[in-house]
Amino acid sequence: MIRLGSHVSMNAPDYVLGSVDEALSYGANALMLYTGAPQNSFRTPLDKLKIAEGREKWLSCGYRMEDMIIHMPYIINLANTVKEGVYDMGKEVLLKEMARTKAIGARYMVLHPGSALTGDVNESLDQVARGINEVLEECPYGIICLETMAGKGSEVGRDFAQLQRIISQVRLQDHIGVCFDTCHTHDAGYDLTQFDKVLDEFDEIIGLDKLYVMHINDSKNVRGAHKDRHANIGEGEIGFETLYKIVHNARLDDVPMALETPYVGGKAPYKEEIEMLLK
Ligand code: FE
Ligand code: FE
Ligand code: ZN
Repeated sequence: MIRLGSHVSMNAPDYVLGSVDEALSYGANALMLYTGAPQNSFRTPLDKLKIAEGREKWLSCGYRMEDMIIHMPYIINLANTVKEGVYDMGKEVLLKEMARTKAIGARYMVLHPGSALTGDVNESLDQVARGINEVLEECPYGIICLETMAGKGSEVGRDFAQLQRIISQVRLQDHIGVCFDTCHTHDAGYDLTQFDKVLDEFDEIIGLDKLYVMHINDSKNVRGAHKDRHANIGEGEIGFETLYKIVHNARLDDVPMALETPYVGGKAPYKEEIEMLLK
């Protein structure tokens, strides 16, 4: 079945329970949340998050914990080989977030591979793999889903081969996968109007069994622009028809999907966009 939701907030006083309520208000059967601000590592203590209440409500709707996706904070950059300390800090933050994911009972953790800055790209990719190996050694939990990136600046993970270079070096293969972002892959140059061909290529290079999460976004920029600016569904360069076909593609059956489209006039567009895409 189609598992479609959106990014939701997590705020005081109801935290995870509030996130679940927000998702349900959109008619979603999947959701994605950050366990705190994505730009920093300050975190509200777990015992305040109303985890049990949120989880109970989610499961009582018949939805799965696989459909509750956690996004790791942006400050993690395991790909940085040029600035001392960034890699170690990234590992530390990632480990803490994994522990929080485990406490919530979610399984899928979306992680940006990071940016190489002035460093060698292959060395960066190899360092990401090393970081993931070291983190999984300490906390072999869930599935780290490397996100396909637009290739903005020196971002790594901008094509399937780069992601596979990381994935192939991960020792605990049951704990590594991919989050496919439609805006990012379009911006990276993939032609989503030929989505089955893109999936074939993904299957050949990485393996479709490694595709755990989808991000469904339109893009403000033309294919190959390497920009990463999300547009509302049907209002960007990818277009409604292509995104609709992706959501309904039988090869993505049961893969949880999350919208990360921009708010419109201060309001979340997710209820309307989910309705449009499920019609
Ligand atoms: Fe992301
Ligand atoms: Fe994304
Ligand atoms: Zn993005």
